[in-house]
Amino acid sequence: MNRNLTIDRPTFVTHLECSLTGERYEADRLHGLSRAGRPLLVRYDLEAVKAALSRDTLGARETDMWRWRELLPVRRTGNIVSLGEIETPLIPIPRAAGSPNVLVKDEGRLPTGSFKARGLVMAVAMAKELGVTRIAMPTNGNAGAALAAYATRVGIETIVFCPEDTPEVNVREIAMQGARVWRVNGLIDDCGAIVGKGAAEGRWFDFSTLKEPYRIEGKKTMGLELAAQFGWELPDAIFYPTGGGTGLIGMWKAFDELEALGWIGAKRPRMYAVQASGCAPIVRAFEEGVEHAERWEDAHTVAAGIRVPRAVGDFLILRAVRASGGKALGVGDPAILQAVDDAARKDGLLLCPEGGATLAAYREAVRTGEVDEDERVVLFNCATGLKYPMPAAPRTLDRHAPIDFELL
Ligand SMILES: *Cc1c(COP(=O)(O)O)cnc(C)c1O
Repeated sequence: MNRNLTIDRPTFVTHLECSLTGERYEADRLHGLSRAGRPLLVRYDLEAVKAALSRDTLGARETDMWRWRELLPVRRTGNIVSLGEIETPLIPIPRAAGSPNVLVKDEGRLPTGSFKARGLVMAVAMAKELGVTRIAMPTNGNAGAALAAYATRVGIETIVFCPEDTPEVNVREIAMQGARVWRVNGLIDDCGAIVGKGAAEGRWFDFSTLKEPYRIEGKKTMGLELAAQFGWELPDAIFYPTGGGTGLIGMWKAFDELEALGWIGAKRPRMYAVQASGCAPIVRAFEEGVEHAERWEDAHTVAAGIRVPRAVGDFLILRAVRASGGKALGVGDPAILQAVDDAARKDGLLLCPEGGATLAAYREAVRTGEVDEDERVVLFNCATGLKYPMPAAPRTLDRHAPIDFELL
């Protein structure tokens, strides 16, 4: 067992706050959305954290996710659940990106093979802390897998609903890790409607993206890690594949908290929310200059993880993108697949399609002059490429026949 997990944890959560109205909610109680129907944000006594934790203390700890415990919501050490949430590496892809300054934060190395582990490990720990016994969730695949794994580990029952064309590997890993999984003839928000109905009837707790407050806190660690990995200076730009936008919202929150601790300055990366052009509600809202995004009809893309027609945190994504001086960018499936292919063949790094989308968007941004090649850029590869279909490799060799070694 990781020795960090046995240390007693001082806790700094003061309250929760509606992300739209600022209305306060008590900590240590079970919450979903705010009364205004918006995500709740966890607030900390950052002055007290500042007094209790130095960058040196942090630097001496193991580099896993729980090194950030003063900035995380779990109160009781015994409620921490873990499958080994490592700090993920930054990998250059100089050939595919055409610049040595582009680094891929490879989240595919986390438990269950995606960055959903960050959010769900926190949300499940808090569900345990707050006495939840049954959880339901709509998912495009990876969130359900992470939920199943962590919830099973702490003995919480889970029911997961996914679109019927969810990648087979996701459906099976969810089932194998102990959840009851249902394929639904609809999209993720149709699945979400079923979860919402059951929750309203008191059948289970609703774990939809941003409908409970703690996934953001887990995803926030991506921003905390980046700051530490970049020596407390953030990169110039971050390209984030945006579905529900939890990670982008979480990183933006992390940067504010780090600034309040005096660990970073006021400079922020330009945040680029990347979507597939077949499902780009945030891009459309960004371009129209509005604060909320309308549902995207007939959503389709190879990048299932960002096929989210409607996001409850739309205004938080758009605010962060705008405040940072970034943009919301749409990329087509052919460019996504080309980017995945290039990163694998030229740099030996296998991306998931959503990770490919960030590389495709980066290339387009360089082409249009939005980003300069000598800027320091981080692309998020949010899941292991091994979960996704790859091109066929059909060559066979008959060992009994004469072998033409020139042809090999
Ligand atoms: C969930 C997911 C995303 C989108 O992440 P959000 O933070 O919800 O926007 C992107 N890619 C993959 C592979 C995912 O599983």
